Amino acid sequence: MMTGLIEQLSAALGKQYVLTEDPDKAPYLTDWRKRFTGKALAVLLPKTTEEVSTIVKLCATHHVAIVPQGGHTGFCGGATPDNTGKQIILNLKRMNQIREIDTANQTMTLEAGCILQAAQEKAAAQDFLFPLSLGAEGSCMIGGNLATNAGGTNVLRYGNTRDLCLGLEVVTAGGEIWNGMKGLRKDNTGYDLRDLFIGSEGTLGIITAAVMKLYPLPISQWTTLVAADNIASTIALLTLFQRRATSLLTGFEMMTQESLTLNEKHFPQMANPLKGNPPFTVLIELSDHESEDHVRQLLETILEEAFTANLISDAVIASNLSQANTFWHMREHITLAQAQEGANLKHDITIPLSSLDSFILETDALIRKNYPGVRIINFGHLGDGNLHYNIAPPPGVDHKIFNLKHEKPIQELVYAQVERCQGSISAEHGVGQLKIGDLRAHKGEVAHDLMKSIKMALDPQNILNPHKVVSI
Ligand SMILES: Cc1cc2nc3c(=O)[nH]c(=O)nc-3n(C[C@H](O)[C@H](O)[C@H](O)COP(=O)(O)OP(=O)(O)OC[C@H]3O[C@@H](n4cnc5c(N)ncnc54)[C@H](O)[C@@H]3O)c2cc1C
Repeated sequence: MMTGLIEQLSAALGKQYVLTEDPDKAPYLTDWRKRFTGKALAVLLPKTTEEVSTIVKLCATHHVAIVPQGGHTGFCGGATPDNTGKQIILNLKRMNQIREIDTANQTMTLEAGCILQAAQEKAAAQDFLFPLSLGAEGSCMIGGNLATNAGGTNVLRYGNTRDLCLGLEVVTAGGEIWNGMKGLRKDNTGYDLRDLFIGSEGTLGIITAAVMKLYPLPISQWTTLVAADNIASTIALLTLFQRRATSLLTGFEMMTQESLTLNEKHFPQMANPLKGNPPFTVLIELSDHESEDHVRQLLETILEEAFTANLISDAVIASNLSQANTFWHMREHITLAQAQEGANLKHDITIPLSSLDSFILETDALIRKNYPGVRIINFGHLGDGNLHYNIAPPPGVDHKIFNLKHEKPIQELVYAQVERCQGSISAEHGVGQLKIGDLRAHKGEVAHDLMKSIKMALDPQNILNPHKVVSI
């Protein structure tokens, strides 16, 4: 029966786009963090929406589950199949066309397999900003960004992927093509299907194309690194910048001393330029459409105010674009430094800004008391209240052994603190297979049951990415 499916798929896509040999499938089977490895009946590489529709119809007939996949950079194992060898991976990378840039509507229409960086570059070539930006932008894809509702470094000013999307094209679990590609900023015609598919991690439909918002390209950007002694000052600094710079504030990223010490260990060229690597380093970016001088003066005025109020003890303003890029690379390399150091315990959480101070003080103290010597690699998009609160074993301790023993209790400790502060256990990375077991307790029974009802209504056969996000 499966041979019949593979033959039908090969006839529909072309044999070379149906990968069934182990060496060909291998690159698609392990997630970026190397936490999950699965098996697949085949990896399919369609080129058109019609081909995706054909795949879904054939798989539905044969009761074969489909795991949609983009750049495979997700952190929750959502794009990795299970280990039965019965699921197929549908990778969108050949659907990488930018169909249109509509300058009057300020939108870009593009296919799901388009690499994020390619989209940014295409927009910039026409004097537009496509603001979605994250460390994986050289390999993650628009479909994956939408399916995970990715956040990144520009959420503070432009919102997350959901906020940037005006329209979607989706292949449903029945293989129908839903054309929701009107690039409208207002459309109150009943339930918002677009918002249902965004963030659904491939469990409700396969996103094949999207209409995304564009913005005018800023003409000037100033980036600074500042030193703060404690988290309370860091939050007060954010409030100050939000009040003074308002919409010109486009980045506010926090990095603790331990995060940057780890960075320097693996990337010596990324050493913190601030004297003595202070307890908290904050990367702040202001962007403007007026003159260079205007934003530079504003930045200096706010920094002076921050010094006077004792919120910061040191600051360095990037003197040119290349230095600004170095500051950003320092921030983005923390994830890579962690990967080099060895598997660590990741917690991608959001805390209301009003509780962030108490969250960090209490959780740090509990972790240090219960697990002496561990490194708390805490950094993140502080402007959004989003922390990557990651725990690495004490230096010299084997990561695998430490994680095996302590993952569960450390996660319980951190999540209990998140609940105490009314935060979220997944700020921007999603649920996938990693957090599926934690969702019911976190969301509550009513929300969890509603999610299951939606899944059953849209995918009654449970063939789209089963056992990810919610199990039915
Ligand atoms: C170095 C690094 C830095 C990162 N920084 C950030 C960050 O700042 N913010 C952030 O939010 N994330 C970040 N991530 C995580 C990751 O890059 C994002 O989750 C990204 O949006 C995933 O896109 P992808 O194309 O790789 O999706 P994949 O990993 O391939 O898939 C992710 C999920 O979406 C589903 N999916 C993929 N394509 C489709 C589609 N076309 N239709 C339906 N479902 C689909 C998959 O089944 C899976 O469940 C980072 C990752 C790395 C490696």
